[in-house]
Amino acid sequence: MRRNGRNGQDGQATQGGVWQYSPAPEAREIVKLQPRYGLFINGEFVEPRSGRYFETINPATEEVLAEVAYADAADVDRAVQAARHAYEQVWSKLPGKERAKYLFRIARILQERSREFAVLESLDGGKPIRESRDVDLPLAAAHFFYHAGWADKLEYAFPGRTPRPLGVAGQIIPWNFPLLMAAWKVAPALACGNTVVLKPAETTPLTALLLCEVFQQAELPPGVVNIIPGDGQTGAWLVQHPDLDKIAFTGSTEVGRLIQKAVAGTRKRLTLELGGKAANVIFEDAAIDQAIEGIVNGIYFNQGHVCCAGSRLLVQESIADLVIRKLRRRIQLLRVGDPLDKNTDVGAINSLPQLRKIERLVEIGVQEGAELYQCDCTLPNKGYWYRPTVLTRVSTAHTVAREEIFGPVLSVLTFRTPDEAAQIANNTRYGLSAGVWTNKGSKYLEFASRVRAGVVWCNTYNKFDPASPFGGYKESGFGREGGVHGLAAYVAF
Ligand code: NAP
Ligand code: MG
Repeated sequence: MRRNGRNGQDGQATQGGVWQYSPAPEAREIVKLQPRYGLFINGEFVEPRSGRYFETINPATEEVLAEVAYADAADVDRAVQAARHAYEQVWSKLPGKERAKYLFRIARILQERSREFAVLESLDGGKPIRESRDVDLPLAAAHFFYHAGWADKLEYAFPGRTPRPLGVAGQIIPWNFPLLMAAWKVAPALACGNTVVLKPAETTPLTALLLCEVFQQAELPPGVVNIIPGDGQTGAWLVQHPDLDKIAFTGSTEVGRLIQKAVAGTRKRLTLELGGKAANVIFEDAAIDQAIEGIVNGIYFNQGHVCCAGSRLLVQESIADLVIRKLRRRIQLLRVGDPLDKNTDVGAINSLPQLRKIERLVEIGVQEGAELYQCDCTLPNKGYWYRPTVLTRVSTAHTVAREEIFGPVLSVLTFRTPDEAAQIANNTRYGLSAGVWTNKGSKYLEFASRVRAGVVWCNTYNKFDPASPFGGYKESGFGREGGVHGLAAYVAF
């Protein structure tokens, strides 16, 4: 347990015997928040026909950041019409090398404005600046660069075939990687000659709206991308719109199911990126300290708000005590707090409903017999916070081993043999990702070939590259984003 903090010689407090860094907040002045944001339709910010606005808050402080226009069915229709017009009159007629120029411009402007975007992402969603600065922004820009490169080479991606765009894509994204998910959706659609109507998540619309400024700066033709904030109902109206050729959705399995039903029997093509319950497996021959860092990165950074988070730790029985001891020690050293502080490891939970969901699932875990261990750091008084948590004595029947928690909560299970590890890893309705830690190449290749997951990381975790396709098996969805496979989701032959 934590030793009580006391002041060191230079006045800095120690916590758990560790020297604390002085606060190092990133300046937020770089972000110029507007009191109100409109819908982005046909290249301009416009008032919503709904006449409605909703607030988006900073989950670390509960401060209202701005009011954002709410798109109703009439607004959705206006956005789809703008996208259709842009598709028919402009975008589908441009040669690939011209489309590429716009994508390159967007990528470069994103790089130039990356600090502004990173600060806004952390303000609106609660994720640590270290993550938004070092992960979200570089990857979002890389995604535009990568797809810019393909725009005039699509016939090489599909040799012997003639890829054509699909038309207008309706895209719906979640709150955990707001800008990055927008980039994952918009870049391949545009590279392949489609136009877009995108709905960001209700709690994190601001970076998608700032991206609209980038589209204006890049002089992207009006209507090629339209962004319409709103809630789940806005998403449902978008899915139901008859004049769309494609729906791309990232979010929960529950909503994915509703969407699949809604598009059944229509001409709309569909890709779904849904939930996950990844197994992160440590064999007894692994480099244990390195594995601990990978596990911590896989579940605690970004508050576990990652669909591919390594939320189930499978540890070989012979090293279980040692790993759990090291893990407990390590989570006491996590810095939880102000997302804008550059030292912060774990930021705020994205919303109050999400916090309640995490609390409820952990409570069920304890009732079902799991042993609870938490980081006993001091949490801020305002905002939504959850302590990094380890649940041990978990078995595959437990709710916390089956349900997606989407919070900084790790459920630890043990196994004896490689066979048993693969069997437990596959004992889930999801199949998005997995991790394996061992110093034997044969062992991780064997594991990777047996586990039913879209991505398997070996001796690392949560590594992304736009050239590498990402997506799930089973109830984690279908279709891939990134790489040539991701392009295939936006073309017809
Ligand atoms: P969610 O409730 O499914 O919401 C995702 C998006 O869908 C949001 O924009 C949401 O709008 C909208 N939506 C809600 N109901 C809808 C409906 N009936 N029709 C159309 N759209 C609707 O998911 P979430 O809780 O925000 O996000 C967390 C989930 O996303 C987790 O399960 C996670 O695993 C998954 N995820 C998956 C991936 C992946 O690549 N596989 C990546 C990130 C996250 P509102 O925000 O306004 O409700
Ligand atoms: Mg917000």
